Amino acid sequence: MRVESLLGKTALITGGSRGIGRETALALAAAGCDVAVNYLHSQEEAAAVVSAIERLGRRACSVQADVSRLDEVERIATLLQKDFGAIDVLVNNAGINPTKPLAELTLEDWNRTLATNLTSAFLVSQAVLPHMRRQRWGRIIFLSSIAAQTGGVIGPHYAASKAGMLGLMHSYSGLLAKEGITSNAIAPALIETDMIRSNPTLRPDLLPVGRFGQSSEVAEAAVFLASNGYITGQTLNLNGGWYMS
Ligand code: NDP
Repeated sequence: MRVESLLGKTALITGGSRGIGRETALALAAAGCDVAVNYLHSQEEAAAVVSAIERLGRRACSVQADVSRLDEVERIATLLQKDFGAIDVLVNNAGINPTKPLAELTLEDWNRTLATNLTSAFLVSQAVLPHMRRQRWGRIIFLSSIAAQTGGVIGPHYAASKAGMLGLMHSYSGLLAKEGITSNAIAPALIETDMIRSNPTLRPDLLPVGRFGQSSEVAEAAVFLASNGYITGQTLNLNGGWYMS
């Protein structure tokens, strides 16, 4: 079996302070990556992830930025390039799921969700791609959602943002395959994080497997995608059997 080593690669996880992002940061570190942990508000949690990665013997740093904003993304891209290293593995994970009745959704909700979940993935990918293209090796992983495939339970703003990520992922895959850069998505459903805990309508019995997924199960998938150079343009479903492709 041909599994590519991630030893010595540098990874950036957007929204790496909590939930799926946190576990993915730790799993990539365990697989050999040095890891930059982006966060928006959770400074202490991000610092704890950095300490845990350092205990694994890898380099780590935390970088505060609102990745939905171009100026903030440019700021951290320059900072990381100078002080930490160019990014080989990008996990576009930062996301929000503002939950409201359909009739109450506003343009502000729509714009904020699209900016945080989709525009951020475009901005950060564009910022790290020049290095990946120069070295002819890179991995871009998008945290999409079952909502992209079925509409999901949050609402049209969230579903559209996550479906947009799949279009972005497909485009990068086609454009960059010949340059050693893969682009793939993970589409989870009901992973037990703050995002799910804060919504009482989300219950484990909605899922065929009868339990919520764990962040560590998503993180394993991210490491798998980062370690494989032949899988590109794909969506890996981690959804307890809720949607079958
Ligand atoms: P959490 O709510 O637990 O964590 C969200 C993370 O995103 C936090 O680290 C948060 O930072 C960060 N974040 C939010 N907005 C920004 C921003 N503007 N700039 C930088 N960072 C930001 O979410 P999950 O771990 O549950 O979800 C992670 C991803 O997986 C999301 O994209 C989500 O949509 C997707 N997903 C999750 C599912 C689930 O069941 N949990 C199912 C399907 C998809 P801070 O801590 O600083 O606030």
